[in-house]
Amino acid sequence: MIKTIIFISLSLLFLLNMAQAQYINVDSLHVLQGSPLPVSIAELDSIEMISPEVLPEYFTGGFITSGYLLSQFSLPAKGKVISRFGPRSGRMHTGTDIKLNKGDTIYAAFDGQVTMSKYYYGYGNLVVIDHGHNIETYYSHLSKCLVNTSRFVRMGDPIGLAGATGRATTTHLHFEVRENNKPYDAELVFDFENGKTRDEVANMENLASLHNELKPKGYSVNQPVSQKYVVRSGDSLYKIARYTKTTIQVLCRLNNLTEKSILQIGQVLHIY
Ligand SMILES: [Zn+2]
Repeated sequence: MIKTIIFISLSLLFLLNMAQAQYINVDSLHVLQGSPLPVSIAELDSIEMISPEVLPEYFTGGFITSGYLLSQFSLPAKGKVISRFGPRSGRMHTGTDIKLNKGDTIYAAFDGQVTMSKYYYGYGNLVVIDHGHNIETYYSHLSKCLVNTSRFVRMGDPIGLAGATGRATTTHLHFEVRENNKPYDAELVFDFENGKTRDEVANMENLASLHNELKPKGYSVNQPVSQKYVVRSGDSLYKIARYTKTTIQVLCRLNNLTEKSILQIGQVLHIY
């Protein structure tokens, strides 16, 4: 009898482990792969196994479908847009800059999992939230990050305080919305002036179709950032990855290169 109970308990434990093993969060792996810094085995080992009980419904296609995901978003902060998305003095501006005062609270635009929360080059203190459906939001130049990597947040949760860390000349929030790692104009989703999402967002499947629908109506003045980069003298994959805010691994994959490939001046590289 006792043996039977032990056997059943062990079997249940085994099945439970199997069930959990199927729920490795691939979305957080994505960000680790995209890191330009070498990822050690120890870091890979620390990727959390997420059991079915704690998986939010949007990851399983529960109560929110991808078609309505963007309409659920709320503003990360209220303030005046001081620099719009798009080319800016020869560089690509991949987000929308909102003027804030130092220490103003910045809120999660939607439910999701924090996939980065640290100082990151010109972004300064940066929080990245993965919302599922390949959509992420970036909150940059923070004076302080209030959430840790891999934590789940709800829409409206405080995630950071406004600052001017990284490459910033004034206190503001640099806010990005990305789909498949490609930055889109956040003004397609948000009407920052009136502090709400656009009505059109409710019918849109994703950011790409939102761009196609709203761009001709003049909601966004800029195209998504340039998807190509022309190699200049003195460039390296490392430099290009930093300049275009992507990673060497992504550049290699998109352009059939290896990290040791020799670049030619004038060579055109795909960035996203
Ligand atoms: Zn910016």
